[in-house]
Amino acid sequence: MGEAEAGKDPDFLEVQYIDLPGIVRSVTIPYESYLKKSDGFIAAFDGSSVEGFEPINRSDLLLAADKSTFSRIPWRPERARVLGKIYEPSGQRYRKDPRYVAEATIKYLADSGYGPLAGAEVEFFLFKSLKIDVLNPLRGVGYSVVSQEQPWDTEAPHSVVKRAYHLPEPMDTLEPIREKMLKYFRAFGYDFNATHHEVAVSQSEVSVKAGDPLFVADEIVTFKQVARQVARENGMVAVFLPKPLYGDNGSGLHFHLSLWDSKGNNLFADDSDGLSQTARYFIGGILEHGRSLAAFVAPTVNSYRRLVPGYEAPVYLVWGYSNRSAAVRVPATGGNKGLTRVEFRSPDPLCNPYLALAATFLAGYDGIVRKIDPGDPVSDNVYEMEGRSLKTLPKSLDEALDALESDYQYLLPVMSKELVESYIEVKRRESDAIRMYPSPVELYMYMSY
Ligand code: GLN
Ligand code: MG
Ligand code: MG
Ligand code: MG
Repeated sequence: MGEAEAGKDPDFLEVQYIDLPGIVRSVTIPYESYLKKSDGFIAAFDGSSVEGFEPINRSDLLLAADKSTFSRIPWRPERARVLGKIYEPSGQRYRKDPRYVAEATIKYLADSGYGPLAGAEVEFFLFKSLKIDVLNPLRGVGYSVVSQEQPWDTEAPHSVVKRAYHLPEPMDTLEPIREKMLKYFRAFGYDFNATHHEVAVSQSEVSVKAGDPLFVADEIVTFKQVARQVARENGMVAVFLPKPLYGDNGSGLHFHLSLWDSKGNNLFADDSDGLSQTARYFIGGILEHGRSLAAFVAPTVNSYRRLVPGYEAPVYLVWGYSNRSAAVRVPATGGNKGLTRVEFRSPDPLCNPYLALAATFLAGYDGIVRKIDPGDPVSDNVYEMEGRSLKTLPKSLDEALDALESDYQYLLPVMSKELVESYIEVKRRESDAIRMYPSPVELYMYMSY
């Protein structure tokens, strides 16, 4: 970072917070005013202008800095960033603040003797450009309705090889771009476990370092910002839609979850090198609430184009060991008890990771409290079990929201009812907007009927 590193203070500070759908918002203040006010509130904002927050008549919200997240912005060292904690004018923490929800979930579980540990695998695409004008949908669909052309320009530079899982350079032309992303990511104080080309054309994966749900959600939102920045530097776009391409794999955001006691024992591992009863009940809770959880972990209309058979994405609410078609998988650990964990495969990278991780841990915890039996692990390829009466994931965002409307009690120890209701409202609006918009594929399919 050169000059900035030589002890000179940044000039500006970006205070960032996260709205209900999970989008990062940012307000910039002079760095001196942060120094002067660093024990209290450093900025105020209009909560009625933020998706899902406050009505117009009580719109003021305040921001304080979570100093542990302070960092220079690696591509603009004269600026620094800090993630905010949102407060009400009364001085109370704001209960709809997604970072508060993650923090409160950690505390709620800790009060019962459980320390949650999470990991996440972020999958995403890099495309040269978008052929449609995403910023102005009213301008219409800018590509031909008489062809089945994809809306993305997947021409070079990018990886052009099909079934490109784990291919190295030069077939993987995205490697140097991911490397730059990870340099920035580390400069923010985070780290990754592994990165590679994924199965689909132009698709990458980065698994971020494990930590508590607040830390991992911070990593995910930061990584997405970094990825978008580096993509822009390279004249590309980073795309986190779960299913941007028809007929190829989509992008998941698999969660890896375990619970630990205060002495550092993994409560998901048992003595005979297997999965503990606690872990089984935790899985039971995730499967039991899997349909309402979908509203948080697979929260867009596009999410349900991914959750279909044949693309390594889950469809059925079952669990298994090495089975990638089940919603919950227990990965191999090579006998290392520290690694025993549960992988939840429904989540995708458009989720609000704070709410999604919180909801998932609360579902698992409910399974422990109510001793919910997850049933036997499934070993067959579940995609080929069509016809058997297995509980399935929702087929649309509306189905997921319907499920959440009738199954949210397990969230209430941490999430307020108002949060759940506002979240459903925001997501219904999103779904309605798309439902009312004629899509290219139906124009193509129906024009000759
Ligand atoms: N991309 C797949 C999904 O949608 C996962 C593929 C993998 O990681 N093996 O979840
Ligand atoms: Mg992986
Ligand atoms: Mg993957
Ligand atoms: Mg995985």
